[in-house]
Amino acid sequence: MIVYDLQCEQGHVFEGWFEDIRTFNNQNKKKLISCPVCNNTSIMKVPTTFGIKSSENGQNIPEKQAVLEKMTEKLSEFVEKNFDNVGTNFASEALKIHYGVSEPRNIRGISTTQEEKTLKEEGIQFFKVPVPAPPETDS
Ligand SMILES: [Zn+2]
Repeated sequence: MIVYDLQCEQGHVFEGWFEDIRTFNNQNKKKLISCPVCNNTSIMKVPTTFGIKSSENGQNIPEKQAVLEKMTEKLSEFVEKNFDNVGTNFASEALKIHYGVSEPRNIRGISTTQEEKTLKEEGIQFFKVPVPAPPETDS
């Protein structure tokens, strides 16, 4: 469910709950939404920065998802530009840098759960970025 701040022609602001933005648009077009104060049916959505409340199980919130995807996109772009891709050698490369064998730099790559555990035990800081999975290839 999404909650929108709505405003009627007379300037009354109230909250409306909708399945999604399409439900709101449909209902609004059919004048099914009316102001609780004056019954006006010329309803506008008040732009809010984060007028989204997740449903209890928190799934399928298209707008929130879009925002997250945008952020992820930006983040992975940044990582791609500024981090050296070491692929599956991530863990060993991180260890080498940690022990001064390799020159210190930003790296990115893939690691297994086991490798991540090792890195944590060695006190190596890393963070995981959700990136869209690349298409599966048989190599
Ligand atoms: Zn009103």
